[in-house]
Amino acid sequence: MQSLSNRKKVIEQKPMNFWEKIYLPAIFKGLGITIRHFFKKIPTIKYPEEQRPYSKNFRGQHSLKRDEQGRERCTACGLCALSCPAEAITMTAAERTKDEKHLYREEKYASVYEINMLRCIFCGLCEEACPKEAIYLDGPHVTADYLRKDFIYGKDKLVEPKFDITMLTQEKSI
Ligand code: SF4
Ligand code: SF4
Repeated sequence: MQSLSNRKKVIEQKPMNFWEKIYLPAIFKGLGITIRHFFKKIPTIKYPEEQRPYSKNFRGQHSLKRDEQGRERCTACGLCALSCPAEAITMTAAERTKDEKHLYREEKYASVYEINMLRCIFCGLCEEACPKEAIYLDGPHVTADYLRKDFIYGKDKLVEPKFDITMLTQEKSI
């Protein structure tokens, strides 16, 4: 039947000649391609022995920052959670007591702060939304694990470790 578009091409199969019938030229041609690829530089990286350098734009695991006095910067305003398209962030806010002034910079802080790394798409919107410069995606990549619950990172994994303030003042004086 004639097709409506009339773009159909009729392809006629030519009968094979002698060389095509014995297949040897095609086999040698195929072997030539294989040998050529055998001596090419392999682009595969033997991870973890070899590691590719990360790009400058790499966004890794989040870290919740401390100020120059070692106090947590996050004030549990929730803007990061609101801006997150994957709804990966949850937190519980708490009031800072008088004795906790050395721990938290603002009067309100996050007593619980969790990010579900299985939901996160590392878009960086939480970092952009934060008015306190408290969250950055400057950590390493999130490591593999076996259980889903282990991908919910709490403050124990997110808050950056306390640094030695004496070291910082020494560095400034140099
Ligand atoms: S990087 Fe994007 S997806 Fe991940 S927690 Fe932040 S806002 Fe959500
Ligand atoms: S990380 Fe920043 S945006 Fe998120 S709750 Fe803390 S202060 Fe607010």
